[in-house]
Amino acid sequence: MEKILLVEDDSALAVGLKFSMEKEGYSVICAGGVKEGLRQFETGGFALVVLDIGLPDGSGFDLCRIIREQSAVPILFLTACDEEINVVMGLDMGADEYITKPFRLRELMSRIKALLRRSGGKREDRLESNGYQLRAEECRLLFDGGEIPLTPVECRLVYILISNPNRILTRTQLLQKLWDSAGDFVDANTLTVYIRRLREKIEQNPSSPKIILTVRGVGYRWNDVAQGGGENEQD
Ligand code: CA
Repeated sequence: MEKILLVEDDSALAVGLKFSMEKEGYSVICAGGVKEGLRQFETGGFALVVLDIGLPDGSGFDLCRIIREQSAVPILFLTACDEEINVVMGLDMGADEYITKPFRLRELMSRIKALLRRSGGKREDRLESNGYQLRAEECRLLFDGGEIPLTPVECRLVYILISNPNRILTRTQLLQKLWDSAGDFVDANTLTVYIRRLREKIEQNPSSPKIILTVRGVGYRWNDVAQGGGENEQD
């Protein structure tokens, strides 16, 4: 049974969510704050973390940051506000997904399932391009003797791009591949944020990308130099 950590200080909401998740067959551990959440997380074995942002002893962002230092576990934020600043902050902090309150339970469940499917799905391991080696199963990107830390969603995105060298992937295709059937839950702006984050991690100069190229008005292309890639267009 997959174990989920739910960090939410609204106890009525927490009880309802726990009940619904357990009905879906997950085992759920609840925590009402950052400290307790971390203590529970450190007991180990979680397949997913669901994090409220406003907590009595800190913010979900803090907890997310601490968890990310030690784990690539999928993290889903429950946010009371869909301001882009919050979304971007959450994604920058290493979250994989967010859902805005109030939300429908069914929608939350679909996202949880999609996250777990993505992180647990079997994929071809070890892809190489431009000196990068992606070990998909371990969610690790190696380059020049070092490792570039990736969140599970970033790993998935690299996997999709790198397995389609020099091929244009439209934004819709990317969103569909990223979110499988749950693609309609994510807007194009979020994809832009993911791409930007990824460029910051792998491009020498993220504002003048040489690897993840923008195809204006269409989508993106992974430039594999060894296989005859090309130049970037303007954003
Ligand atoms: Ca709260």
